[in-house]
Formats: sequence, structure tokens, C-alpha cells
Amino acid sequence: MQPFHVASFDVEEHHRIEAATGLQCSVELKQEYARRMEHTTRQLLDHLAKAQALATFYIVGEIARTHPGLVRDIHAAGHEIGSHSWDHRRVHHFTPDSFRDDLLRSKEALEDVTGEAVLGFRAPTFSVVRQTGWAVDVLAECGFEYDSSVFPVRHDRYGIPDAPRGPFWAVGRSHEILELPPLTYQVGKFNLPVAGGGYFRLFPLGVMRAGLRQTAQSMSPSVAMLYFHPWEFDPEQPRLPLGRVAKWRTYVGMSRTTARLKSLLQGRSFARAIDVVRAIKASAVALPRFPL
Ligand SMILES: [Zn+2]
Repeated sequence: MQPFHVASFDVEEHHRIEAATGLQCSVELKQEYARRMEHTTRQLLDHLAKAQALATFYIVGEIARTHPGLVRDIHAAGHEIGSHSWDHRRVHHFTPDSFRDDLLRSKEALEDVTGEAVLGFRAPTFSVVRQTGWAVDVLAECGFEYDSSVFPVRHDRYGIPDAPRGPFWAVGRSHEILELPPLTYQVGKFNLPVAGGGYFRLFPLGVMRAGLRQTAQSMSPSVAMLYFHPWEFDPEQPRLPLGRVAKWRTYVGMSRTTARLKSLLQGRSFARAIDVVRAIKASAVALPRFPL
């Protein structure tokens, strides 16, 4: 199998980010972020169209209600629509039963708009971790074909550092699901999370490229799962009143993201995550099995 590249976008309004948990935002500011989310997502659609690249959009379910036209247009452009939960709460917040309700609510709202089954999930803040490993069973029970929420890194907010870096079967108590972990770059014993976020904005783009090369050369099947957020491409947006460290983490490097994304999209072919999942399943390749 050829090396796959997946560009994924976690679509949420800026005030929903984990760093802003507990902050009081005015209705006006939330409306402004919602407006900018739609505008920036449409710009991203233009960049993808120019590069003739297809992507996967993991969308907060509530956005299917507030911005159905946006969801419809993303889908009409040929991109995959996946779920990013109902309202962007981490999996830690739920019991298996309440997580099921949240998942189905989001899945059905998105499906109502597009008329197509939602088969992929990305947990807010990669919150499928050891403690929330039961999520695997719920995802499979709810009809999801794959998940992309386990980050094989050591990080203060998320990650399972010893999880496989390539596609694997995440094994729960009664079910299993195909997992597409975000791209990492292995340096010695450490997996650097080079798939997106702060690393994409802060480090030279060469670090992500090195991760892409390493994955293509050393893994089979090779899947480089990248992730971005619309708000990361909006350097002019009003700033959230975050603490000093959170502010730096959130806003560092935002003025260079659009040029970087365009550069990444050039000269590479991109596949939707669901198409990668189908190719892997059709190939009958034996993937590692990893109990959560
Ligand atoms: Zn998110």
C-alpha cells in the first residue's frame, strides 16, 4: 500500500477549546467566534479545492444545528464528515451511557444534514486515554467504523505513550475499533506529536516533514494523520482571556499557518480517513491489537 496522508480538521468555535474551560465568554464574543469559524472553514475549503485535496472534517454536532449550510457545503465538496462530539466536552466528562447519548446526538445531527452515515470520530482534546478506554466499546456499538482519538505521546492533557504509532485495533472489553493515531515523529524513546496543533505552529515545518518521511519509510501501512482547527488559521480573531502560558500555547505561530498548510498540500496526495480505513480493511493486512 502507498503511504497515505490525511488532512483532518476539528471544527469547533474558538471558545470551545479546552484551554478556555471555565472562562465566561459574552454572547457577542461567542457569536463572533461562530461567524469566524464559518468564514475560516470556507477559506480552508478553497485551499483544499485549489490543491485538489480531499480531507476529513470532525465537526461538533451542535454546529450541524447552527450552521447546517456549512456542513452541507463541506460534504458537497467531497470531504468526509466525522463527529467531534456534541458540544466539545472531553470523554472524561461522561459515563459510558451518557457518552453514548452524546455520540448518537452528534452523529444523527450531522447525518440529518448530509444524508450520509457518519463513521469516524475524533474526541475533543484526544480524550480517549487509559482512563476512558471504555469509549472504544461505545464507539463500536454506535456504528462508528474508526476512531482517531488516541495520541501515542506523553502530554499533560492527553495521550497513551505506549500505544502504536500506526493504525491499530483498539481493543475494549467487548468490541474493538480501528484507530488512526495522529502523526508522531520518533526521536530516541520519545514520540513527538508533530501532527498539528502547537507543534505545527511553533516548530519549523521541517519537523512535521521529518515525521512524514519517517512514517512513510518505516511503517506499513503508513498513515500520516494530520490535524488542524479552523481557528488556527484566523490570526485576527479576538483573543480569549487566557493565562500567560495558555495564551502562548494557543496563539503561537498563528500568522504562518495558512502558508504552511498550502505548502503541505502541494505535491502530496491526500485521502479521506474513511477511504484509508476501507483500503486497510480491504487489504486484510494484520494490524497490531492494543487493549485500552
Ligand atoms: Zn476540538
